[in-house]
Amino acid sequence: MGSVTLVSATVAALSFVACGSQPTVVSHVGGRQFSIPNATVLPPAPPPSTTGGFDGSRAYNHVRHLVDLGPRPPGSDAIRQAQSYIIEQLKSYGCHVEEHDFHASTPIGDLPMKNIIAKIPGTGPGIVLYATHYDTVRLPNFVGADDGGSGTGTMLELGRVLCSRKGKLNNWIVFFDGEEAQGQWADKNSIRWTATNSTLGSREMAASMALSGELKQVTAMILADMIGPSNLRIKRDTGSTRWLVDLIWATATRLGYAKVFVNENYPVGGDDHFSFIRRGIAACDIIDFDVQTTYWHTPQDTLEKVDPRSLAIVGHVFLETVPELEKKIPVRQ
Ligand SMILES: [Zn+2]
Repeated sequence: MGSVTLVSATVAALSFVACGSQPTVVSHVGGRQFSIPNATVLPPAPPPSTTGGFDGSRAYNHVRHLVDLGPRPPGSDAIRQAQSYIIEQLKSYGCHVEEHDFHASTPIGDLPMKNIIAKIPGTGPGIVLYATHYDTVRLPNFVGADDGGSGTGTMLELGRVLCSRKGKLNNWIVFFDGEEAQGQWADKNSIRWTATNSTLGSREMAASMALSGELKQVTAMILADMIGPSNLRIKRDTGSTRWLVDLIWATATRLGYAKVFVNENYPVGGDDHFSFIRRGIAACDIIDFDVQTTYWHTPQDTLEKVDPRSLAIVGHVFLETVPELEKKIPVRQ
């Protein structure tokens, strides 16, 4: 990481106040900058007993660990440490973990990448993918607390809860590498999903599942990306599959989260879910992209942008989609 200046710390603090978020302490350790939320003002996570067993504090601590590794672009030492962490955590929960290694040809060269998948077997056919990306965009000093961290922390905690449960559907918790563009997005404002140098992990997985025949068994793919803000507002992505969006929003409303899963439409330009939608699979992106005009893809995407309560809300909704999807999709006898 580059040197830390007083100016960057001041900018971070100012932007924080402007967002109406909590104050932070910025510390410098070993030449690296860490933004430490003030524990006395950080909203606590709701008790897991109120969120279906999902522990927002655990999810948040995963984000903290990932942020402490620094920038995690594909092929870096830090992303290898993130991979080890994700795999170790999942195995500690008793999850069956698979590592899918591949190489991606990108404008900045050949990059080694790894998708990580925890497979939780069900009693019947039908696979549901709960997915996120864990790489961070290749920018100086970008630690990706919200973009890359929040989804990963949430999916790790989802794995802890689900790996000890047995249901009808096969639930796979998926961590994609290479979501961010390697080089420039083709057009980061509108048609970025058409770029061939991004969403590399999800493209690889969808392609290999098509080849193996497993893709036909996928009943739904639910993606979490950038779900950290304390004032979380998730709009209905118009590019996602309608019935799946309706199911998730109905579940969230039933749980009392209608102010988080708001009834507004928004076209998410591009994300990993399109790798599956393009192959005819129902998919939905859970994302708060309002931060596009504030800290998105800037060094200000730091730990204090992530609220354990927001992770807990999304995790709770995901857990409750499991029985909803089982009800909707008849399982063969
Ligand atoms: Zn990003």
